[in-house]
Amino acid sequence: MNDLGAVRDVETAVIGAGQAGLSAAYFLRRAGMRAGTDFVVLDHSPGAGGAWQFRWSSLTYGKAHRVHELPGMPLGDADPDRPSAEVVGEYFARYERAFDLRVRRPVDVTAVREGTGGRLRVETDAGVWSARTLINATGTWDRPFLPYYPGQETFLGRQLHTADYRGSAEFAGKHVLVVGGGTSAVQLLMELAEVARTTWLTRRPPVFRSTPFTEEWGRSAVALVEERVRQGLPPQSVVSVTGLAATDAIRAAQERGILRPEPVFDRITPHGVAWADGRTLNADVILWATGFRAALDHLAPLKLREPGGGVRLDGTRVAKDPRIHLVGYGPSASTIGANRAGRSAVREVRAYLAGVDRTAEPTSERSLERVH
Ligand SMILES: Cc1cc2nc3c(=O)[nH]c(=O)nc-3n(C[C@H](O)[C@H](O)[C@H](O)COP(=O)(O)OP(=O)(O)OC[C@H]3O[C@@H](n4cnc5c(N)ncnc54)[C@H](O)[C@@H]3O)c2cc1C
Repeated sequence: MNDLGAVRDVETAVIGAGQAGLSAAYFLRRAGMRAGTDFVVLDHSPGAGGAWQFRWSSLTYGKAHRVHELPGMPLGDADPDRPSAEVVGEYFARYERAFDLRVRRPVDVTAVREGTGGRLRVETDAGVWSARTLINATGTWDRPFLPYYPGQETFLGRQLHTADYRGSAEFAGKHVLVVGGGTSAVQLLMELAEVARTTWLTRRPPVFRSTPFTEEWGRSAVALVEERVRQGLPPQSVVSVTGLAATDAIRAAQERGILRPEPVFDRITPHGVAWADGRTLNADVILWATGFRAALDHLAPLKLREPGGGVRLDGTRVAKDPRIHLVGYGPSASTIGANRAGRSAVREVRAYLAGVDRTAEPTSERSLERVH
């Protein structure tokens, strides 16, 4: 981009081109808004695919939970043995072309602040956009969560988060401690156990569900996360509400003794970990499968967080600021949830823009005609 100095006006800025951002962009297009003129999609990753482009290659399409298609275009038949990163990356790229979404990348949004005339000032490493509404779809991948344990900095082995995991080969023959009770921990334990010695450590005993996943069960899990977000609390992980689905592969791994969790340690030592009762365990690697947090740092100047630590939402709309929607956040942090959130955010954005029309914003008449 060459006009770094110019401030570009748009009706809506969408930050993030993962499932949630693309779904929002699709519905903006369907409402008649033009990509690049009426709305802009900004993403700081190098390619299409949202966070999927960074997922470890052994997370094949067949091993992913269930990737729902984006609205309006089928993914088609995908080889279950290909990495999800490739399958989803290619699909998203096709999607962006098909609907002419004109994602601008790599563009890193560094801050969103109050602008002038009731607009939002979106600051990036590629210049500034001034937007009347904002759909934030920045996901969680950029904010891996690592808990702190005393002695952590003294560990002489390797520590990494699942976000940095690239495959089991480099851990061959090592003793790997996998910390965390979610789906990623389980998948990586099963993979690593083929080449390494593993120990699983969790804060709470994980709950494996033997009953199959039903729509109703999914809905009630989402409702629980939704309620937290409505109260302004940080959304908790989906597994903490749903438990882990016990698939055939998981049952087989349980029978082989791979998935036997132990209580997490109390401190980290140079050569491993230790418990308060004096027990110690040596290890070469600590793999933190401890999840992610919402990547919202760029919104900090707007002070959207509640005393409870989360952003209170009414649907996808930020309770404190009706110009802003969070999609792919909390209850909509799944591929299906992101689709729905994109649609409902756009419905509200259009209503908001139409309402503001009456109080007259001079630059916007043209595009408002389109969104009515
Ligand atoms: C290992 C793993 C496996 C998963 N498997 C599944 C599954 O099988 N099925 C399922 O439904 N869900 C799964 N999920 C959850 C999944 O993350 C969501 O379903 C969905 O893909 C998230 O989409 P999103 O658009 O919210 O976020 P993302 O895909 O993370 O997209 C966010 C985008 O925002 C961009 N961005 C972030 N910050 C900025 C910034 N400041 N400026 C500019 N751009 C920015 C990023 O570059 C990224 O492209 C999985 C999650 C993980 C971690």
